[in-house]
Amino acid sequence: MDILDFHTHRLDATAALISVDPQRFDPQPGLWYSVGFHPWDTADGITDADFDLLEQCARHPQALAIGETGLDALRGGDMALQEALFVRHLQLAHDLGKPVVVHSVRTSRQMLDARRRAGLTDVPLAIHGMRGNAHVARTWIDAGCYLSFGARFNPAALQVTPLDRLLIETDDTSVPICDVATQIAQSLHLTVEELIRTVTANARHLLNPSSHN
Ligand SMILES: [Zn+2]
Repeated sequence: MDILDFHTHRLDATAALISVDPQRFDPQPGLWYSVGFHPWDTADGITDADFDLLEQCARHPQALAIGETGLDALRGGDMALQEALFVRHLQLAHDLGKPVVVHSVRTSRQMLDARRRAGLTDVPLAIHGMRGNAHVARTWIDAGCYLSFGARFNPAALQVTPLDRLLIETDDTSVPICDVATQIAQSLHLTVEELIRTVTANARHLLNPSSHN
């Protein structure tokens, strides 16, 4: 299990964690997934039946993580609804022993508070599409989270991220993951090989598929 691209929506991506909605979860040989409801989709409402389907998909051995899910202060449904759904994802992740891929827009404090109030601080979080500043990065890091950086990021936030919490991703862009790796390696004064070794080891540690079987 070598995952270089920690978050993509491309359904044929190899060495990647492919993020899908439960309705689109159709596991292909040799590929890895995270499955969950995006906060933007909460505007249409998520039913109990929808969540039951998510639970089924999340149990699949190729579903290594739950998400992407989270909170978005600028888009999606009512914030109380988004938060309730996020906590449901956390509970599911806790029950299955899988980490959560998090989408957060201007909600770092609110998400960490919700996780604490729910008594689920043991659920590992990987914050995808990390574009916040160094202060926001530190808030996540202090809470034990991993940070996943794509082609657009705040260099100061990257600098304060410990190497053992670092992940990289393409998300919904067409930028090749190797270009992201090159860019981030340069910014950190690492060789591309060192960077790739670091992020794949981090993904393996976080996702640890052997413990899910
Ligand atoms: Zn995404």
